[in-house]
Amino acid sequence: MSHQFDDDLRETIQFHGHLCPGLALGYRVAKAALRELDAERPGDEELVAVVENDSCAVDAIQFITGCTFGKGNLVFRDYGKHVYTFHNRRTGAAVRISEDYQGFRNDPRYRELRKRMDTGENVSREMQAFKMEKASAILSAEEAELMRITAVTAPPPSEARIRQSVLCSICGERFMETRGRELQGRIICIPCSEKG
Ligand SMILES: [Zn+2]
Ligand SMILES: [Zn+2]
Repeated sequence: MSHQFDDDLRETIQFHGHLCPGLALGYRVAKAALRELDAERPGDEELVAVVENDSCAVDAIQFITGCTFGKGNLVFRDYGKHVYTFHNRRTGAAVRISEDYQGFRNDPRYRELRKRMDTGENVSREMQAFKMEKASAILSAEEAELMRITAVTAPPPSEARIRQSVLCSICGERFMETRGRELQGRIICIPCSEKG
């Protein structure tokens, strides 16, 4: 690819492991969010991201915005939607970004490649080239072709709280007490409760 990538894009690709349409979309969403929220260089935990899917895009969002699971400022809602809400705790501003790029899976060439793949043909090189072409198109597309951005007034989800941990009476490992299950009067962890 002939792109001159910005440093932060190259680093995002390194973090994720490859460039793909999903990562490119996440990168564009994250950059738009930083601009809209006046947070080009976000400080620790200044931003909160609420993501409604767990696709490749979320890796770009974590890397660019600094919102991560470990810090508690990345919140995953398993809705399967390409929607991302960002809050700036410093200013109180928030935006909802709905990504709506039609040019990848709706491209007839994508369906054609999938069809050939299903018949057992090895199309991995063509698929890879197709994905690179789409990622490149996404990186240079007009923002309005990729997403809708609206301001929101809802407050951010509450900050991660430190919770008590308790011992599971089956495996003996510690877990957060709010995740406990009860079995015949004993407190046990979720994995043990699911072993039946
Ligand atoms: Zn990917
Ligand atoms: Zn257990």
